[in-house]
Amino acid sequence: MAVAFLGLGNMGGPMAANLVNAGEAVLGYDPAPEAAGMAAKAGVSVVDSPAAAVAEAQVVITMLPSGKHVLDLYREIVPLARPDMLFLDCSTIEVADARAAAELAVAAGHQAVDAPVSGGVVGATAGTLTFMVGGRSEAFIAAEPYLHRMGAKFVHCGGSGAGQAAKICNNMILGVSMIAVSEAFALGQALGLTDQALFDVASTASGQCWALTTNCPVPGPVPASPANRGYEGGFASGLMLKDLRLAQAAAETAGVRTALGEHATDLYAEFVAEDGPGRDFSAIVTTLRENGTA
Ligand code: NAD
Repeated sequence: MAVAFLGLGNMGGPMAANLVNAGEAVLGYDPAPEAAGMAAKAGVSVVDSPAAAVAEAQVVITMLPSGKHVLDLYREIVPLARPDMLFLDCSTIEVADARAAAELAVAAGHQAVDAPVSGGVVGATAGTLTFMVGGRSEAFIAAEPYLHRMGAKFVHCGGSGAGQAAKICNNMILGVSMIAVSEAFALGQALGLTDQALFDVASTASGQCWALTTNCPVPGPVPASPANRGYEGGFASGLMLKDLRLAQAAAETAGVRTALGEHATDLYAEFVAEDGPGRDFSAIVTTLRENGTA
């Protein structure tokens, strides 16, 4: 049986291509002609509606922009699915939406997991994504072969929605820690420290973290970080803002105070309004340094 792949954009396109390369028959759908055309070139059999993709499939993978897209599509396709279909949603969406989508599928007798990813377009293309998975154990076991073909690592985080929860908690740490590292470089500069001296100390001391040692926001200390190429080609600020907002929505629903997560969301909203959504999220250091010396 084929795999139906709905949402063939920047992430879904290369993920579907990796399934094709692994020998799967993939029926794909995307309303954007450019995305559909690229997927067709990669060997995906592009069809003209979600219904046409689902009709011949035993597994449906979705990679869509938002929870509304996922829920609207599930409402359309769940009634059309063959018995015992596996629904695998890889989009990054609200925990509550992920649970509602899975519930639609499970209530109709199907299996469902949320499986958001980290690794970006580079990881999607190389097949090295990490999947954070939420759903019942049987559904996770059923999803594993497909995750294996699109990624390198997958963690079963718990029941429905747990994959989304893990993703937004991790990215809240990342957003907050990138701002902390960037503020330290702004203050260090104002106090006459070179970036290299601060890096040499903090990277081997208690300030050590991924935002400093792998994705260092200033050019120089970590040659592979996006700061050395004009902040192009990394994890886009607009996506960081999206994930921080999802974390805040979940915190509000759960009644948990996340003061730094809230402040990081405000700072990224200001940064994206000024700089646009496209550059790597570490570029926030440029604004923090300007503000610091103003
Ligand atoms: P994208 O905008 O490039 O792709 C989304 C695609 O979904 C578009 O091509 C759109 O036409 C299509 N689509 C919309 N409605 C549809 C429908 N009803 N049926 C089928 N297709 C439909 O976005 P992306 O960068 O591929 O991101 C997809 C998801 O992955 C998002 O939830 C995003 O937050 C998450 N994500 C992205 C990255 C990244 O680096 N781009 C990293 C991790 C997670």
